[in-house]
Amino acid sequence: MAWDAVELLKELVQIDSRNTTSLRSGAEPAVTEGPICDFVRGLLVNLGFDCAVQFAAPHRPNLIARSGRDAKRPWFAFEAHLDTVGVDGMSIDPFSARIRDGRLYGRGAADTKGSMAAMLAALSRLVRDDHAPNLIFIGACAEETGCEGIARLELDGPPIDAVVAGEPTSNRLVTAHKAHAWFQLLCRGRAAHGARPEAGENAIYRMTDAIAWLRRTVAPRLAAQTGGGLQGSTLSVNVIEGGRRLNMVPDECRAAVDVRLVPGHPPREFVQALTEEARQTLGHNVECSWLHVSPGLETDASSPLVRAFQTALNRRGMASAPEAVSYCTDAGVLAARGTDAVVFGPGSILQAHAAEEFVELEQVETAADILEDAALAYNAART
Ligand SMILES: [Zn+2]
Repeated sequence: MAWDAVELLKELVQIDSRNTTSLRSGAEPAVTEGPICDFVRGLLVNLGFDCAVQFAAPHRPNLIARSGRDAKRPWFAFEAHLDTVGVDGMSIDPFSARIRDGRLYGRGAADTKGSMAAMLAALSRLVRDDHAPNLIFIGACAEETGCEGIARLELDGPPIDAVVAGEPTSNRLVTAHKAHAWFQLLCRGRAAHGARPEAGENAIYRMTDAIAWLRRTVAPRLAAQTGGGLQGSTLSVNVIEGGRRLNMVPDECRAAVDVRLVPGHPPREFVQALTEEARQTLGHNVECSWLHVSPGLETDASSPLVRAFQTALNRRGMASAPEAVSYCTDAGVLAARGTDAVVFGPGSILQAHAAEEFVELEQVETAADILEDAALAYNAART
């Protein structure tokens, strides 16, 4: 029997899967994705999927479930992150999954349990459909702390041909988003007694020169970049620390920088070029180290995956033009591994992380239908 997306969503929202601890921190959180991973795994086992759980870090599971029917058919994957953001500042009960006026309220309703429920409902129908592709469901941990779980996922078995990552796009087809990079700049100087600053080299002064250069020269250049239908990369220096004592010329200063680059401008190459340019422009070394990178997304509008979604959307008279968003998703990480990827799901990004998060139930049910149709259209085009 096919599953009801709304019933699934209710159960998913009632499971606390807050992610308030990044994998990078190495700390063990009080709440993990463990219970929701177990719940979804149980559902997929009932559908006959082969399920495997990999731990991206202690107690932080990634779920990979496969249901293959024919080696000649493509592998079509549904991916949704298992975690939600925290509940601080919420003005509603985060876990009661209350339904009112056609909306379901709660943490994760839009981001991204609405998508997950629609995917599971679609899978319950596809698994019994003779025209379906080979199917995969990936439930990834730690997306909200920077797509960390999916980045640590090891995929064995047949390669994935296409993946749809579930995020609240209001059931619009997203094929492009920015890349996200955090890096740290380090300026070194020479320590000296505060009474004789001329004997030292002030690392904070070097850093302020570097930051002024980033603001005046680099940021306007980034703002003019275009790619993947997006206009304007951005840069912001968001954390700074330096100096040891008030009577000592500082020998080190660090600044952390948040960069969002439109598609076609890979973060690592950007930062490499930036470091070289800084040395030439500023006349001293600025050392750079990575804190975090999430790849961007730019999927070819003529790819079979995009066309399959457009077939499903057009059939319902819905908008089907590929769109671009400025937030990062797990789709970027999977696309960087060579899989065609799009982002699609019910709910609005405006409700994601909100004090009163909700999703329109009609959108969840429509999403399940579109996901099912897109998988069938993809299989028909590829076999
Ligand atoms: Zn999300």
